[in-house]
Amino acid sequence: MKKLAVIIPCYNEEAVLYESYYRTKQALSSLPVPSEIIYINDGSTDRTREILDDFARQDNTVKLIHFSRNFGHQPAVTAGINHCDAELAVIMDADMQEPPELLPDLLHVQESEQANVVYCVRKSRIGDSKFKKWTAKAFYRVLNSMSEIDFPLDTGDFRLIDRKVMDQFNQFPERGKYIRGLISWVGFRQVPFYYTREARIGGSTKYPVSKMFTFATGAILYFSKKPLQMATGLGFIAVLIGIILALWFTLGKIYGFSNAETGWTSMITSVIFFGGVQLLTVGVLGNYIGVLFDEIKARPEYIIDEKKNFD
Ligand code: UDP
Ligand code: MG
Repeated sequence: MKKLAVIIPCYNEEAVLYESYYRTKQALSSLPVPSEIIYINDGSTDRTREILDDFARQDNTVKLIHFSRNFGHQPAVTAGINHCDAELAVIMDADMQEPPELLPDLLHVQESEQANVVYCVRKSRIGDSKFKKWTAKAFYRVLNSMSEIDFPLDTGDFRLIDRKVMDQFNQFPERGKYIRGLISWVGFRQVPFYYTREARIGGSTKYPVSKMFTFATGAILYFSKKPLQMATGLGFIAVLIGIILALWFTLGKIYGFSNAETGWTSMITSVIFFGGVQLLTVGVLGNYIGVLFDEIKARPEYIIDEKKNFD
């Protein structure tokens, strides 16, 4: 019998944990396979730690990892995958935006399709703000147009993965993990599963705009070299405009169709334009150097304070 693990990262989720645990347990008990839950407490500062400790004390199918501080959603999911010894795993959020009641269907699709990955595509999002829906939609399309891999659109980390994929994932040495991208990248047999993303059952989002922005730029930096090519392209255009302007003013002087002395506007425009192009190019380079810097330091992605119910 294959075992199924549900990986749930939690950051300050005291408002949702009881209901979340109850509903997940309900869904798991209806499955024909043995199961367990792996909670990762990502340095919560509310009662999340105590609540999860209680679950783990009463229920030995609850495995628990406490981080030493808040490391972020992706490191938390990474820790879950790294510590999973089951044949199948589902990555879920604590807030029930991805209903655990879908677990039997997910498992069914995996079995009937013999899939290594069942990725869940959002047909619609009930709970999220207009801003979030719009930026998320735009992000997945921009990323796709920039990277060489075709990522499935409107697909988060909510997905079922098998041992083969987890073993490959555990081999990745890179620290900045864009997990949904990496899982697409490994290949094997991947099939979609369509669902409606619900509203959060309580608490508030742990992804403010600043975190969303870091997440999105990280994904682009790790999966695309397009920004570098675009910087080169921009430089090229700037040089071309420079040559045309130089010719225009020189010939204009000779043949008298342009009076360069009064060209304050053209001068200031070109200074701003070329200055902008240079700053932008340096900025893009700087971002990639930042990524290299982080990777070369090779610090651990997360630090564990305590583990429970792992034998
Ligand atoms: N999360 C985490 N660490 C963080 C931020 C979020 O472990 O630094 C968890 C959070 O508890 C939740 C999941 O990641 O289970 C997704 O976060 P959230 O639901 O707030 O994001 P949203 O659905 O609004 O994008
Ligand atoms: Mg959520």
